[in-house]
Amino acid sequence: MMSADRYAASRAQHVRARRSLAGGVATAFRSGQRPVPISFEFARGAHLTDVDGNEYVDYALAFGPMLLGHSPRAVLDAVEDQLGRALGFGASHLLEAELAEAVCRTVPSAELCAFSSTGSEAVQVALRIARAATGRTRIIKFRGHYHGWLDSVHVAVPGRLQGPGTAGQDAEAAATLKICEWNDLAALEAALDQDVAAIIMEPVAVNGGCFMPQPGYLEAVRALATQRGAVLVFDEVITGYRVALGGAQARLGVTPDLTILGKALGAGFPISAVCGRSDVMEVASTGGAVAHVGTFNANPICASAAVAAVNVLERNESEIYPQLEATCSAVSEALKEEAGEQGLSLTVNSFGAAAHAFVAVEPVTDFDSAAALDPEPYRLFVMEMLAEGVHMIPRGLLYVSTAHTQADVDFTRQAARRAAGRVAQQLSVRA
Ligand code: PMP
Repeated sequence: MMSADRYAASRAQHVRARRSLAGGVATAFRSGQRPVPISFEFARGAHLTDVDGNEYVDYALAFGPMLLGHSPRAVLDAVEDQLGRALGFGASHLLEAELAEAVCRTVPSAELCAFSSTGSEAVQVALRIARAATGRTRIIKFRGHYHGWLDSVHVAVPGRLQGPGTAGQDAEAAATLKICEWNDLAALEAALDQDVAAIIMEPVAVNGGCFMPQPGYLEAVRALATQRGAVLVFDEVITGYRVALGGAQARLGVTPDLTILGKALGAGFPISAVCGRSDVMEVASTGGAVAHVGTFNANPICASAAVAAVNVLERNESEIYPQLEATCSAVSEALKEEAGEQGLSLTVNSFGAAAHAFVAVEPVTDFDSAAALDPEPYRLFVMEMLAEGVHMIPRGLLYVSTAHTQADVDFTRQAARRAAGRVAQQLSVRA
């Protein structure tokens, strides 16, 4: 029987977790969920079940990895097969080259690959390669772009557009960063001196608000980087395999020197990659100058999942990507229309199968307009959507998968109507 408190078991679990788990959650981003961080028990396709037995359509997708939905059959089969063989060797195996070949076939910039476990790690590998390949030290990072949680790059991030992203950070570790305005070519030109090893960016700024590069900007950055001898790094941890088989670089037609992949690459398993031009990557090759190490690098379980995922995407590219894009725009439209009719103005920026939603009357086009918004109304909306059986990220990111159906979109539309109605009412009472 459903209890009167829809989240009773999640609340109890959170109370229990707080006694032994710092903050009661395993990653700080999860603490923002209201009314309580939900504990889940089961996931299949586009659907989740929590410990209270509530079911949800999921647009968080584990913060992005589940591009093929939760537990896709082809990935489970590959992993089950590998589980029967070995969990790890700490030595070479067949899947690592197979995966590297699959990445090189699918990602335009990829001629050589190096694998790690998380996006944050792969960013460090890329910066190390860039420094070793150029003999330079400084890195240009853009305000509002996110490249993982490590001290060397966790500066000027979404939510904290100035200075260090967290307490406890070693300021020295980020001392070689130069923070630049994105979409401002003159600012980049001024910052790009002879000591810049790399320019790193999200080619579409999904974390900050799913902002697009201005027409011609990426091409101009590409030309400048080449001219000044800096390595251009696209962090495609979100956009890789999600916005196109070849990522944002394929969609936008600009090829970086190095690319960072994560999330969707492993379809739920922790695996990430740096890939790029062989003359730049060469420093990380055996006998090269750069130490690229890690106990779990290209772990065979994760590699088996990634090979299966990339194969599914490659084989079905022509159906999958138009379908993902159609689902993402259908969900975005449904949210906007239903909320708008209830007097709650939602703005949704979307690109491929990734989107970012805000409660905002005007279009949200850059980091400053996003930062100027009160985040509270959107958080309320997400909480009311949860009550309607739709799970979303409180910060505004929205992800869709190949498992979402028209029925899921229709359900989301109905949910949005009721949720937005309640939020609009609460906001008008407060005003
Ligand atoms: N780069 C980008 C663009 C990301 O979105 C993320 C994670 N959200 C990372 C790097 C870090 O990846 P991870 O959380 O796997 O360390």
